[in-house]
Amino acid sequence: MTSEVYFGSVLHGARNQGAALARKLDLIIEQLDFSTIEKKEKVAIKMHLGFRDGYQTVPVFFVRRIVKAIRKQGAFPFITDNPTAVYNAVDRGYTQETCGCPLIPIAGVKDGYTKTTFIDFQNVDTLEMGGVLHDADVLVDLTHAKGHNSSGFGGAIKNIALGGYHGPSRWRKIHGVEQSIPYWDNEKCTPEHAKKLVKACPDNLISYDEEKHKLTLNFGMCNQCGECIKVDEGVGSLSLKPENFALFQELMARSANEVLKTFDKNKQFFITFAIDITALCDCWGFGQPVVINDIGVLGSRDIVAIEQATLDLIANEGLIENMIPPYIRNPILDPSIDLHPFARLHGPMKDPYIVTKYAEELGMGSREYKLIEVLSIEEAKRIDFKSQTFEDQPTFF
Ligand code: SF4
Repeated sequence: MTSEVYFGSVLHGARNQGAALARKLDLIIEQLDFSTIEKKEKVAIKMHLGFRDGYQTVPVFFVRRIVKAIRKQGAFPFITDNPTAVYNAVDRGYTQETCGCPLIPIAGVKDGYTKTTFIDFQNVDTLEMGGVLHDADVLVDLTHAKGHNSSGFGGAIKNIALGGYHGPSRWRKIHGVEQSIPYWDNEKCTPEHAKKLVKACPDNLISYDEEKHKLTLNFGMCNQCGECIKVDEGVGSLSLKPENFALFQELMARSANEVLKTFDKNKQFFITFAIDITALCDCWGFGQPVVINDIGVLGSRDIVAIEQATLDLIANEGLIENMIPPYIRNPILDPSIDLHPFARLHGPMKDPYIVTKYAEELGMGSREYKLIEVLSIEEAKRIDFKSQTFEDQPTFF
């Protein structure tokens, strides 16, 4: 099955607002066809509202436009995210007044209004889905595309796979799943050798509890540089396997699928903004250098197709190498090595396409897609736009 993905590029073909990104978003919304949203339905717009000083999220200008289009159907949209992000969203410009609809914490003000979701995958038995998201009739998965240290990429799937669940589910369960497959042999490793392994990691990602004789590796931040493996040569107690890293993405596909199961197929909409694309995700709570040129906005009814298309567009664009932040240690920039830009930053075992493969296997959508560009440069050149008007006198009254 081939799914349609609508795309509006930041590059536009006429010196006119009618050819630019906001107009392209309107055209994508038309193509997505919000008419399947019925009067009075409660529409959850799941966003990442940023955190602390992290302001590189979907601009409120576009959020407001999407909210207006939903309201036109006579439905009741609301924006949702984790309680803290909602509570201090005002610091990043998101309020009921600016967005045009209420902002409601996804699992209530104390993060305790949840629906237990059976996952039964590796060391994760259940996750607690946000009750507010679960109660909604319609999902608009409104995503900011960016890198992610655990999965390589954070897009439409991650926005609901992690963002759809309460804090402890995200931070203690999903972020711990890589531990499920054994990677350290306690019998081969003496306490002295374990301490050497701890020292070997330049990013302090290995810890050792001497009392319990237990070594733990933080897979989420590991870029697979191999320094620890070099120190382990001749002992062979530690292994870095793609399977451990892939567990995070497989669980993401599963947890996102559980969210989607709570919505009818014709009540699911996906919009991804590939602008302000940073190396790390919005959870870090600080502004970051943009490592990929702005690309544009995508829309689809298929979460797998939009994710695949976004990843492909990012791959085509490539990294802005002089903007890679110094805290990304040893990025793999050799062009003869075939890697997605985010695997260049976060390590080859964090290939961001893994999640779309698992998501397709779960029946969430198709990796085959047709990219349909709205208002391309050529098309815009052929349109006779009315001349651009300027504010030579006040026009607001
Ligand atoms: S591979 Fe590199 S980053 Fe990962 S734990 Fe080993 S030393 Fe640290």
